[in-house]
Amino acid sequence: MDHIELSLTQSLDHCIKCNICTSACPVAAVTDKFPGPKYVGPQAQRFRRAGQPVPDDSVDYCSGCRVCNQVCPTGVRIAELNARARAQIVAERGLPLRNALIARSELIGRLSCGPHAPLVNFGLGFKPARWAVDKVLGIHQDAPLPRASRSSFRAWFARRRRSLDARSPGTPAQPSRQVVYFHGCATNYYEPEVGKAAVAVLERNGFEVILAEQNCCGLPLLSNGAFADARKLHEANVRKLLPYVRRGIPVVGTSTSCTLTLKEEAPELLGLSSEEVHAVAAGTYDIFEFLRDLADRDQLNTEFRPVERRLPYHPPCQLRAHRIGRPVLDILALVPGLRLDESRNECCGIAGTYGLKREKYQIGMDVGAGLFAFVRGSGSDLALCDSETCRWQITHGTGVRSKHPIEILAEAYG
Ligand code: SF4
Ligand code: SF4
Repeated sequence: MDHIELSLTQSLDHCIKCNICTSACPVAAVTDKFPGPKYVGPQAQRFRRAGQPVPDDSVDYCSGCRVCNQVCPTGVRIAELNARARAQIVAERGLPLRNALIARSELIGRLSCGPHAPLVNFGLGFKPARWAVDKVLGIHQDAPLPRASRSSFRAWFARRRRSLDARSPGTPAQPSRQVVYFHGCATNYYEPEVGKAAVAVLERNGFEVILAEQNCCGLPLLSNGAFADARKLHEANVRKLLPYVRRGIPVVGTSTSCTLTLKEEAPELLGLSSEEVHAVAAGTYDIFEFLRDLADRDQLNTEFRPVERRLPYHPPCQLRAHRIGRPVLDILALVPGLRLDESRNECCGIAGTYGLKREKYQIGMDVGAGLFAFVRGSGSDLALCDSETCRWQITHGTGVRSKHPIEILAEAYG
């Protein structure tokens, strides 16, 4: 059914109690701690009133995967109702220290990345340290944490720019087209290779890549209920990106969760409706959505060399929430020899920071079990997925390496 646009409050009244969402919810299927979307969503919402005590805590077990939104026949925005209910709990009781830490991905990334990254990575792999962090903070000792990079993506980009300028002094770049790259925290501090691949692909298509000032999109704060801090981050991003959007320069991101947050999640959850917020939302694209638009206009460089591989591909929850189909499949189908097998599993279970938490780690692993079996069953030594935390969870659950699809496309361009 087509997505039905209803405001959150209006959507509440459209629940017909059919229970389809509860049958589809991947979390309710694996734990009794979560009574399901209908119960914690529209049903409990009727009792959540300003100044009233929160009716139940089980809403904290909603992972925010939005599967319920996709299956609801009447368009109830259950995941958003749950996110707001969590924020109400945080507003009343404060944000637990563990959640305050893991929700600040930019700060943690900045502290981890750099010449000392090998030491950080050693600590992350040192079992007694992980055990202590589990006991003291509640971050599960086996949860998949990313390996910090010695150098940030932005530092690489600046070095490259200086070296290009030095090679052709006095020759101003003559780009016919420009694009702003939104790299997000994961690419900047943990996986700069994703950003390098994105730059290579965009430049192959004749774009000058601009690295505008930007900050964390705020999704980890939103999903942990810290709405006030998330709002500051979103407003800062709008201020930084707006001048480019006003000049007609698109903002393109490789992290589907960051782009979803800029496009929709932050404005909707935070109730931001200014013209500036709308302009940035409308000017933001997932990178494969952007490339598919180019292809639709016959403007995509299709000089691919063959990549003789068959790979499993998982479209993450955040990508599904964009409601843009499967642009990765559309674009990578143009690469000779490359074949992708799409996962039909709804969720990998990590849901950003959800599966890192001690009390939710096993739920996340149980939710992801079907996907792990699919990836292992493919026999491939590599899996593709657009979202960083999902990639880390897939590798954790299967032992199979994972990459962003843009890295394969960069490979196809040679
Ligand atoms: S699927 Fe939608 S209409 Fe049905 S119970 Fe869930 S929220 Fe209500
Ligand atoms: S967002 Fe996901 S976990 Fe939360 S209620 Fe909906 S389906 Fe269940």
